[in-house]
Amino acid sequence: MNITQDKVVELDYTLTVDGEVIDQSESGEPLTYLHGHSNIIPGLERALEGKAAGESLQVTVAPEDGYGERDEDNVEELSLEDFEDDVEIGATYYAQAEDGSVMPFSVMAVEGDRVQVDFNPPLAGMTLNFDVKVLSVRDATAEELEHGHAHADGDHNHE
Ligand SMILES: [Zn+2]
Repeated sequence: MNITQDKVVELDYTLTVDGEVIDQSESGEPLTYLHGHSNIIPGLERALEGKAAGESLQVTVAPEDGYGERDEDNVEELSLEDFEDDVEIGATYYAQAEDGSVMPFSVMAVEGDRVQVDFNPPLAGMTLNFDVKVLSVRDATAEELEHGHAHADGDHNHE
């Protein structure tokens, strides 16, 4: 079976940027996603189209097909008072937008009571190199299609 729209795919991956490993699936804990539903970044999803279980591939994803370009307008200054906890440079915090959505940001610098923060995704502007091995391909269940994501065994809770 090949990867096409509405298939559920299990894969092992290693993500490197400039030769440094940024992220990888743990042994025995593959990434599971629903193909064709933008569950993963566009460049990787496109490269996986038509592949079958057992195939390995190397994919280079440019920023525009990954996490986008960096936008310096997304670098902002907050006040130290805005933070409930201690502020740690490099750490990720979460802000609640007016519409209720949660926006992650990282702290770049602290000067006095001014905190410089970055709302860009950490991998924005970076060229991503994926080493991918396709482990399995199956049809999605009706429930998965309804939800728009894959249900891996035991890691998805429904209310
Ligand atoms: Zn679900």
